[in-house]
Amino acid sequence: MTIDEKVRKTLKELEAKTPDEVNNLFAGVIAAVESERQKLVTRGTADESERERLAKELRDRWLARKSGIISSIDECWLKTAPKELKPAVGRAFNELRKASAVLETNELLKAIPLKRRGKRQGELIFSADAGTSKMGGRDLTLPGYRRPLGSVHPVTQVMREIEDIFLGLGFSIESGPEIESVYYNFEALNIPESHPARDDWDTLYVNSQVLLRTHTSPVQIRAMEKHGAPLYIICPGKCYRHDNPDSTHATMFHQVEGLAVDTDISFADLKGTLDFFARKFFGEKIRTNFFPSFFPFTEPSGDLAISCVFCEGKGCRVCKESGWVEVMGCGMVHPEVLRHGGIDPGRYSGWAFGLGVERFAMMKYDINDIQLFHQGDARFLEQF
Ligand SMILES: [Zn+2]
Repeated sequence: MTIDEKVRKTLKELEAKTPDEVNNLFAGVIAAVESERQKLVTRGTADESERERLAKELRDRWLARKSGIISSIDECWLKTAPKELKPAVGRAFNELRKASAVLETNELLKAIPLKRRGKRQGELIFSADAGTSKMGGRDLTLPGYRRPLGSVHPVTQVMREIEDIFLGLGFSIESGPEIESVYYNFEALNIPESHPARDDWDTLYVNSQVLLRTHTSPVQIRAMEKHGAPLYIICPGKCYRHDNPDSTHATMFHQVEGLAVDTDISFADLKGTLDFFARKFFGEKIRTNFFPSFFPFTEPSGDLAISCVFCEGKGCRVCKESGWVEVMGCGMVHPEVLRHGGIDPGRYSGWAFGLGVERFAMMKYDINDIQLFHQGDARFLEQF
């Protein structure tokens, strides 16, 4: 109910039956007096005539003899008050009259500042009179707006941590386009058009020959073409899949892939490097296990599992009671892929791996929903 509606009802209609309830009603009215006055004072006026007009309007709204709010309270609240409430209403009404004296026209004229718009848009120049007025001037000693400091996104933090470990091993960082050709994303990686693996990786096509990359592997081909062998690189970056979003799948996520090409590279190098990496990242207690797997671009292929970080290998819900959690795919680079990169598979061999950064971050920080990374919710992000 607005104040104008309230003052046209009787105390009975407003259900004010005790002196306390009456006092509350009047306190609300006094608050309205002050807030309406303050609004005008804060706003200020552009010139003298506007100031006079606005001051008179506010004064009349409250103090006009016939239709003002105060006289309406007199009529509807005071005169109709039941006998036992009369003293309380009378006292409160007197307080209100005193409090509303600030709405007299000449009081308002003193309080409302003149604000003149300067040449630049939005810039306010205050009149000397407003600057000295207690309410009208702006206090330039008040502190400015504080902008909260951001922090590095957890996915970026984990990506940098992974990069650091491999940089320490002598690897360098390579990057490539997120909008990739079908050749680099599939064909050069030994996934011809008829290969069923394309189904798993189907993605958003820009046209029949250009798509959003489904992994960062195309960067490996580009790096082999650019630098030749020997080559030790990692490729961090975004990739895109047609997965339905759920707690472990997202249509966009980050990968770090690694590639080592040299003479005499064997599966033992792969195992040794990834074992070292897993212990560096998850802690020295971690044990690793390699399971056979299949990828078109490696032969043989494996999945690297680590002993479950949550139960230390004893078996829990996260590791499905097995004690092991798969964390990445890896394998010896397929000779066909080396050839596509312009490297002679008769002379060189190599190994490669690929991991999901969000998955690593989820394990590291015990996060159970991948979607949290992409929602931009400050309550989540400020924990890192
Ligand atoms: Zn477990």
